[in-house]
Order: sequence, then C-alpha cells, then structure tokens
Amino acid sequence: MFHSAALKITAWYLGIIMVVSIVFSVALYHVAGNDLDRNVNRQVSYYNGFLSPFDLNNYSQIREQQLDQDRAHLRANLVALNLLVLIVGGAASYALARRTLEPIETALEGQKRFAADASHELRTPLTAMQSEIEVALRDPKLSKTEAVALLGSNLEEVAKLKTLSEGLLKLANHNGRIKTNQAVHLDESAREAIARMEKNAQQKNIDLETKFKPSVAIGDPASLTELAAILIDNAIKYSPAGSKILVATGQSKKAAFLRVEDHGQGIKASDLPRIFDRFYRADTSRNKDQAEGYGLGLALAKKIADLHHGHIEVSSTVDKGSVFSVYLPQA
Ligand code: ADP
Repeated sequence: MFHSAALKITAWYLGIIMVVSIVFSVALYHVAGNDLDRNVNRQVSYYNGFLSPFDLNNYSQIREQQLDQDRAHLRANLVALNLLVLIVGGAASYALARRTLEPIETALEGQKRFAADASHELRTPLTAMQSEIEVALRDPKLSKTEAVALLGSNLEEVAKLKTLSEGLLKLANHNGRIKTNQAVHLDESAREAIARMEKNAQQKNIDLETKFKPSVAIGDPASLTELAAILIDNAIKYSPAGSKILVATGQSKKAAFLRVEDHGQGIKASDLPRIFDRFYRADTSRNKDQAEGYGLGLALAKKIADLHHGHIEVSSTVDKGSVFSVYLPQA
C-alpha cells in the first residue's frame, strides 16, 4: 500500500519537475535559436558590401546549413539534459516520497498494533462473560442464587472492562495534545498524587513518606500528577502490607526529578527492559493474582515523560524493592 503511494507521490513530484524542465528547455531553445538567426543575418548583411550576389547567396546557404546543424545540436543537448533531469529527478523524487511517507507509515503501524493489542485484551473478559451467560441460559433449572452469582461475576468482568477502556482512553488522549509549557512544582504534583492514592495505601497499611526539595519542571500539571500517581500506585500494588514507600523530589544535573522508592517484590532484570511496553506485566504469580492492572500504567508514564522531553530510570532488586526516577527539564 505504501509502495504504491510512494510511486504515486514520485509520479507527481517528477511530473512537476519535468513540466518545469521542459518549459525552460523550450524557452531556452527559442531564445538561443533567435540569437543564432540574428547572428547569421548580421554576418550576411556584413558581407553584403564585399561579395558578389552569387558568392553572397552561396555564403548565406552555407550559413543556413550551419544554422540548422547548430539548432539540431542544441535540440539534442536539451533532450539529453531533460533525460538526465528525468533520471536524477525520478530517483530524488522517490527518495523524497519515501522520506515523507516513513513517519506516517510508522504512526499507522503503531495504531494498528495498538488496536490489535487492545482488542486482544478486551476479548478476554468478554469471552469469560459470554461463556458464563451461555452456560446459565442452557440451564433450565437456574436458581435465583445461581443467577445472582452469575450477575456478580459478570459485574466483575464489566469493572475490568471499564478499567481497561479508561486506561486505553488515557493512553490515546496523551498523543501529543497536551501543552507542556507551565512551571510545575513537582512536590505539589506528588502531594496531589499521594492524596489520590492514600486510601489504597491505608488499605495495605503502607506508610507513604515524603522528602521534598524544591523541584520545578516545565510541563503540564495534570499529566505530571498522573505520572506521579502511576508510580505511587504501582509502588503500593507491588509492596507487601506494612512496608514503607518514599516519594522524593529535587534537582539533579540540571533536571527536576521525582523519585518513588518502594520495598516491595522488585522486578527481575529480564523484565526491566519490557515493563514500559504496553500491556506488559511481569509474570509472577503474585502479580497476576493480586494486583489489578493491564500493563498500561508504565506505558502511559513513559509517554508523559517523553512528551515532556524527560525520561524515567528504574533500578530494582527482586524481593528488595524498586526505585523509579523521573527526570524532567527544569523551568
Ligand atoms: P500494571 O501495574 O497495570 O500491571 P504497569 O505498566 O504499571 O502495569 O506495570 C507493568 C509491570 O511492571 C507490572 O505488571 C509489574 O510487573 C511491574 N512493576 C511496575 N512497577 C513496579 C513496582 N514498583 N514494583 C514491582 N514491579 C513493578
């Protein structure tokens, strides 16, 4: 599909180049032809006084023949030049067309993969619901208690679908449309994020400690709060009850940073390179059973950091804990 689009664009570019080149060649041919004509006429009128009418006639015939040869030579040169423009222009147009299409191609591939991944994830809860309902409908003696249990289970799947669609929506909404131009105090973003997550922390009796030093980034306040909330939410999800989490902000190497440190299950070195991928969840039994999630949090966090021209670093030791640090350009 992209190959044929590239060929179409090449044809357009080349068409424009050739029209310009041919118009110039025709104009050049006329101007140069007229000059040659004028030259011959001038020379013939110059010899008019010296030569007999017979010689003059001969001379002007010879000059006419030379003029025809000169014109033919000029035409051949212009045709050769246009052929060269056609070949070089064609190659350059194709290269330019590929370059123009490349980012569109990449973006479209990304969209396709996103849609495929999302439908795959949506299918799991939908299939579970479908089979439960089908089994219940085939049972003529379905009791009220069984029906209630079925509805309860369906409701759980619906809640999962809602979480998933909200995650997908957030990820889609952060496609370069946010304005990252405000001075944002990262300690305030962290405070807001902590306020959002406090209930989850209390449920697990987790102590959220803070160590805030001045740290002003340039960015979008709502997105940076979201980023902090994702990291704190994960720290709570993947830490044992009663443990401690430290949320810190500050400046380092000309960057404003936000750090979330937990003493939880940690991440295997082999999983580290993939945790920022969409829908990736490290495969530990604890993880899949207990912590709710679809592997979208860190993908969104990375996207927010990227949109701010910042980056996220992570260091982790299994069964000891993880440290996530976000570095952002200073205001
Ligand atoms: P989710 O938490 O919904 O699974 P994320 O994208 O936020 O998705 O995280 C991806 C994976 O990275 C998680 O499934 C988990 O395995 C791992 N992870 C993220 N944060 C932590 C953390 N603080 N401690 C241990 N593992 C983590």
